[in-house]
Amino acid sequence: MARNNFVIAIDGFSSCGKSTVAKALAKKLNFVFIDSGAMYRAVTLYLLRHAIDLNNTQAISKALQDIRIDFVPQSDRTLIYLNDEDVSEEIRRMEISDRVSEVSAIKEVRQAMVAQQQQLGSRRNIVMDGRDIGTTVFPDADLKIFMTAAPMVRAERRYKELLGKGESVSLEEVLANLAHRDHIDSTRAESPLRQAEDAVVLDNSDLTQEEQLEFVVEEYLKRKSR
Ligand code: C5P
Repeated sequence: MARNNFVIAIDGFSSCGKSTVAKALAKKLNFVFIDSGAMYRAVTLYLLRHAIDLNNTQAISKALQDIRIDFVPQSDRTLIYLNDEDVSEEIRRMEISDRVSEVSAIKEVRQAMVAQQQQLGSRRNIVMDGRDIGTTVFPDADLKIFMTAAPMVRAERRYKELLGKGESVSLEEVLANLAHRDHIDSTRAESPLRQAEDAVVLDNSDLTQEEQLEFVVEEYLKRKSR
């Protein structure tokens, strides 16, 4: 079915600044920003809290029926709710980052999240960031960006972010977590992380946030005027 809304998909490796660019772009264009990774993180939090065995497909399917994820926009940021509880901070913790890729590789989890993401972007102008947005969730997205950056640059950014939040982690742990997630995300059977053929690559290893925003806005304007 033809869409009337404009969909921007931003995919790429872990911690290469997808959300930062996506948020800035959504703000600039007055689009809705949807962080699909936050949804997988919320599911991971739920499964860990309920000690659900990740090999037990039946228990996972049942749990998915009990999970409701909502995005609640505030003036300065968007909160993520898991069944009426604000979990925005908790889902960023290292315990969740350590398990989220395993959870995201589960077929039932992906099917449920992809359906919700498609629903969220069916009528509004959106910027959605993730791993499979331009390939699986919105293969017909109007603009697809594939972001990447040197692994050490990514690890240092994430490390600083976690330290700023008071987490005690080492740079080595962060680097290992990113490599681990990239590996699982790229090699899983269900919608693996890969660059869509029609995606524009943005390597931001040496770019400021302003330069990245300028790049994506230019790409948007090219497509908008077509
Ligand atoms: O974007 P973020 O790093 O918060 O995503 C957390 C994890 O969720 C990723 O490492 C990946 O395993 C998973 N994910 C995914 N598909 C998406 C978005 C995130 O599998 N569209």
